[in-house]
Amino acid sequence: MDDCIAKHLRGELDVSTAAMAKSWLSEQQCAVVDRCLQLFGGYGYMLEYPIARMFTDSRVQKIYGGANEVMKELVSRTL
Ligand SMILES: Cc1cc2nc3c(=O)[nH]c(=O)nc-3n(C[C@H](O)[C@H](O)[C@H](O)COP(=O)(O)OP(=O)(O)OC[C@H]3O[C@@H](n4cnc5c(N)ncnc54)[C@H](O)[C@@H]3O)c2cc1C
Repeated sequence: MDDCIAKHLRGELDVSTAAMAKSWLSEQQCAVVDRCLQLFGGYGYMLEYPIARMFTDSRVQKIYGGANEVMKELVSRTL
């Protein structure tokens, strides 16, 4: 991510690398938050707890900004 930001600031970030980063990082975010939510047990499902909001907020990352399936399609075009 740091490398992508640096490349973007230099005007050197290409579509394929950005798509890879968006897809992989959002997958990681979901995996980490899902694991954290598990620690909370049933409270993790209750909307008044921040972890439940983190779970829904992380889930949408794989959809918006370009769905991850579309990111994979963008990457595949450069292979
Ligand atoms: C909270 C939120 C904020 C948003 N903010 C903005 C914004 O500021 N600006 C903006 O422009 N948009 C915004 N969006 C829209 C967002 O970018 C789209 O939701 C996103 O691009 C996915 O499009 P879609 O919802 O039409 O889903 P669809 O494209 O209909 O996708 C539905 C499903 O089909 C899959 N799919 C779609 N195409 C393919 C394909 N070619 N191959 C395989 N699978 C595919 C998707 O992965 C997904 O699982 C926002 C969305 C949300 C939820």
